[in-house]
Amino acid sequence: MPDSSMSATGRPGSAGTAAPWTATDTEPVRCCVCGIDGVPVYRLPPFGVVRCPVCELVFVSPRLQSQALQRLYDDPGYFEGGVYGAQSAWSPAMVLQRTWTAGRLSAVARLSRPPGRLLEIGSGYGLFLAAARTAGYDVRGVELSHTGAEHARTRLGLDVFCGQLADAPAEQADVVCLWDTLEHVPDPLLFLRDVGRRLAPGGVFALSIPYFSSVPAQLLRSRWWTLKPEQHIWHLTPATLRLVAARAGLVITSVITSPLRPANAGRTDSLVALGRAIPQGLVARDGTGAAMHATGGSA
Ligand SMILES: [Zn+2]
Repeated sequence: MPDSSMSATGRPGSAGTAAPWTATDTEPVRCCVCGIDGVPVYRLPPFGVVRCPVCELVFVSPRLQSQALQRLYDDPGYFEGGVYGAQSAWSPAMVLQRTWTAGRLSAVARLSRPPGRLLEIGSGYGLFLAAARTAGYDVRGVELSHTGAEHARTRLGLDVFCGQLADAPAEQADVVCLWDTLEHVPDPLLFLRDVGRRLAPGGVFALSIPYFSSVPAQLLRSRWWTLKPEQHIWHLTPATLRLVAARAGLVITSVITSPLRPANAGRTDSLVALGRAIPQGLVARDGTGAAMHATGGSA
């Protein structure tokens, strides 16, 4: 997915422009962990930002129905103005992009050095995948946008599956990366379980997300530029990320929030997290049990 914290996508419905969506495009959603309704935090008609009263996970409800979301990501204009577009190699956005790529690759390589199989979910135009290939990984991508997947295949010669993760080939990888993707998916718990199934024994995962407890999110509240309720439908914090990951059988081993670290350079409202799968023998069949203890108390 294009990096949303860098710049507005220019899409209708982005913060500050008239929203083209109406209540008929939306549906109510419950907390993916607790299965209960959230309590309103911000009202942004036709959307709402709500918080689960039990686990404190923040999410958008009502949110766009899945058909409306698919229309959003199928629109070639979705990538316009993002950092993956046709920008000069030395534009500030592209310099930042290369800084993140190098920082994230080195953070990943400390846990699982190349050669190894690397899967990127939400591979966009394929810039990270191409860099990972150069670093020595055997790379695959999954991308929902036809525009992004086609660019990665034809311009960069990458192996990218265009479609939903659930429909992608069920291969295991030593490294699974999802940059600025988890906040977009219909159900982050089911999504992270799928990530876990795709991790080879000893494999690691790495992700980035905007986070709701960041200083910009707390100061700007409903005017936070990354709120974008039509696209960003789950708003995690380090604590709720650990909770959802644990329920999915994954453990977060490190979280980078500093905008001074290359992996997260210049990003004051986003974090990078790395982790591993909890060994199968310790996880109860329903994904709870030992996995819950691994949160170490999610507060
Ligand atoms: Zn909850």
